[in-house]
Amino acid sequence: MRLILLGPPGCGKGTQAKLLSERNGLEHIGTGDILREAIRQQTPAGLRAHPYVEKGQLVPDDLVNDVVAERFNLNDPPECFVLDGYPRTLAQAVAFDQVLRQHYFDLTAVLLFQISDEEIIARVGERWSCPKPGCKATYHTQSKPPKVPGICDYCGTKLIQREDDRPETVKARLVVYHKNIGPLAGYYRVQELLREVPGHGAIEQVYANIMTILNEQAKRKC
Ligand code: AMP
Repeated sequence: MRLILLGPPGCGKGTQAKLLSERNGLEHIGTGDILREAIRQQTPAGLRAHPYVEKGQLVPDDLVNDVVAERFNLNDPPECFVLDGYPRTLAQAVAFDQVLRQHYFDLTAVLLFQISDEEIIARVGERWSCPKPGCKATYHTQSKPPKVPGICDYCGTKLIQREDDRPETVKARLVVYHKNIGPLAGYYRVQELLREVPGHGAIEQVYANIMTILNEQAKRKC
């Protein structure tokens, strides 16, 4: 399967991407995670991305397109993947189509998570994540609390709240999201790839919704 997940920040697409990757053998490519790691390591891409990420703005298209293209240009490009957080603009979608064409890859589906802004703002304030590279587990104090408060269940690292999860920054990110999602969704809708996923409810329920939709999509494509 080759999937793209679209949705507002904090809609749960990172959590679902992780589940989809673990349960279906897909490579999880999260541009937010890649950029945060580049910032932590102070690479040239990280230094350029930092001021944008900090303010909740999108990094320039050429920067994120290069980061993704680099992953696909390695000796072992991912055959099966779930993209989380990319593309976010129409220009990125067009650039990514070129990458796909180079490899003769077709997309299976583009899943658009539906959830209200009010719920996003409430959810993000409750979000904690593990900063350890290679773990990156996420928690929610209500729906998915860690076993020991403040500590990652998997690796024991102290959990953090992301800088860009502050309420003002989340509101700015939602404005950017709403500006871009129309043209982006339209681009994939005309290709009959776009499927809407109700983003409310428990994690396993949302995962089940996704699998139902993917089964329907597979039948449509036959
Ligand atoms: P995320 O973890 O996906 O919410 O991404 C965190 C931040 O990384 C975003 O607020 C942007 O600053 C940046 N970012 C991640 N993916 C992209 C993208 N596809 N285009 C532009 N900026 C991005």
